[in-house]
Amino acid sequence: MPSIMCPQCKRTYNAPDKAMGRQVKCPACQCEFKAEEIQKQLPDTVKMTVEEVERYYGKKKENPST
Ligand SMILES: [Zn+2]
Repeated sequence: MPSIMCPQCKRTYNAPDKAMGRQVKCPACQCEFKAEEIQKQLPDTVKMTVEEVERYYGKKKENPST
């Protein structure tokens, strides 16, 4: 299931594949935006360990059940 991000409040959500490319409304800020999968990019010059990746993205609170 692809992840999308609200461009206004920067919250991330899991969206069904069929929602990709369509207008969706952010439940948090009511902003409407086009659903596009987030491309999580890691610096390709440095190989990050799992711990470093978790530290790098750890500030973002995500649903722990996913
Ligand atoms: Zn939002």
